[in-house]
Amino acid sequence: QLTLDEVTKTFQDDDGEIVAVDKVSVDIEDGEFLCVVGPSGCGKSTTLRMIAGLEDITRGEIRLDGQIINDQPPARRNVAMVFQSYALYPHMTVRENMAFGLEESTDMPDDEINERVEQACKDMGIFELIDRKPGELSGGQQQRVALGRAIVRDPEVFLMDEPLANLDAKLKAEMRTELQELQQDLDVTTVYVTHDQTEAMTMSDRIAILNDGVLQQCATPLECYHEPNNLFVAGFIGEPS
Ligand code: ATP
Ligand code: MG
Repeated sequence: QLTLDEVTKTFQDDDGEIVAVDKVSVDIEDGEFLCVVGPSGCGKSTTLRMIAGLEDITRGEIRLDGQIINDQPPARRNVAMVFQSYALYPHMTVRENMAFGLEESTDMPDDEINERVEQACKDMGIFELIDRKPGELSGGQQQRVALGRAIVRDPEVFLMDEPLANLDAKLKAEMRTELQELQQDLDVTTVYVTHDQTEAMTMSDRIAILNDGVLQQCATPLECYHEPNNLFVAGFIGEPS
């Protein structure tokens, strides 16, 4: 179980303090697919980055299976962030891109790294592309590499920040299905940030709706739709994306 307990993030700027994330509390169950939605600037990416350890938290606590992780470095948290495909290293092959994180942040032996990378490529259907560079791949293939890079870490939690945002509609729909199947096969707890209402409604077990850093509701898509906590949720979920 991944727990956010009154997690708060403030930034300092010229005009004073910005509260980007304001006392967000949520329990995310093992294997759950949680979508995080809300308007631009509401704190989605910041929340994800705090779970990943890419951003310090200001107040509160983040726990994984009861253990406090917010004081741990990213590589020790047992969570993996899936970045958008453009975050791949252009000068490295698929194999090198996927092995890099493990080589850098663990003392895993090379042959085990290699085995994991090859298995992940098979799982993602890109094994025949393993020695190509990102520039020689399609958008969807690149996205599979980006996912593979998270899978090889065998994390307890996947964190994804709009992973399909760069893809065209057809590929998006395809990858959405693939991603869902993969998430279910691996049974990995997933926190998925999206702007796309369709994605949130169709992919998630529950939706967390943020506005101005404050969690408005965290419930199943149907509950959010039929029993919104407030007018903001009603308006936001009802809106076509
Ligand atoms: P989008 O949908 O546009 O990606 P978001 O929900 O991911 O938005 P965040 O990136 O989490 O929003 O930003 C939340 C708030 O925190 C915004 O007001 C943003 O300007 C502010 N913010 C984020 N990072 C920083 C930073 N490094 N310094 C100052 N303010 C920041
Ligand atoms: Mg964002």
